[in-house]
Amino acid sequence: MNTLPLPAERYRPFLWVRRGVPLAGMVLAITGALARPELFGWWSLAAVACLAVAWPTFKSGESYLRNRGTIIRWDGLWVRLVRPVARWMGKEEEWVLAFCGWNNFRVRQAFEGRKARRSLVLLPHCIQLAKCKAEIFEDLKNCYDCGLCPVGDFMNAMLEGSWDSRITNRSHKAYREAREFRPDLIVAVSCTDRLLKGVLKLPEVPAYLIPLTLPHGMCVDTQFSVPHLQAAMTALVEPRMGPRPAGNQDAQSAA
Ligand code: SF4
Repeated sequence: MNTLPLPAERYRPFLWVRRGVPLAGMVLAITGALARPELFGWWSLAAVACLAVAWPTFKSGESYLRNRGTIIRWDGLWVRLVRPVARWMGKEEEWVLAFCGWNNFRVRQAFEGRKARRSLVLLPHCIQLAKCKAEIFEDLKNCYDCGLCPVGDFMNAMLEGSWDSRITNRSHKAYREAREFRPDLIVAVSCTDRLLKGVLKLPEVPAYLIPLTLPHGMCVDTQFSVPHLQAAMTALVEPRMGPRPAGNQDAQSAA
């Protein structure tokens, strides 16, 4: 099993806006209360409201996990509110990635002391080479591990770590699979837009998010870092006893 550390999460732009704007509002309201004592009550109310908006960003660990559904709904609201501005500035992708990084940072904090025991890895079908005929939908072990796309490396890592995983070609199937499986952690690989939609669809389930790279455009021969996924599984998930042997002997001999 890979022992690389998880890469640092990049989330500052999201945190500056998500926490910084309401805290700046609170400071303004306190200043207003001091400057206009006759409106002290209203300014105080505004300051408390601003603090309440910022407060979920300070939750961590068990408190974060207990309140995750509400926290993600709030965060999602901020992502959507600011997204048109980010698009206008040409920074839409960076904005959504910053949200993903902030989500990952908090999930990592939450699973630092107590690793997940029932995890599910979700992957999109577009990681398979478009011209490959291996029936990986039926069984991932049908991959010949030819090295032309990330599926082979993923299959070997999955077998070595005995991970539960699903490769799907439709988002709604992935959501259904995840609901039925009832994981305590999802590790999801997808494009940034789908990662955002997925995390907002299942806000209460902690999810570690790994974005795809798209060297050939959307949904065609996409790539992701298998070592990054392995590092996430090592850091966040309780290892299983008695790993299955790595590789797919049947598929390899057929290749
Ligand atoms: S690794 Fe090779 S055989 Fe496996 S899915 Fe990718 S292209 Fe197909």
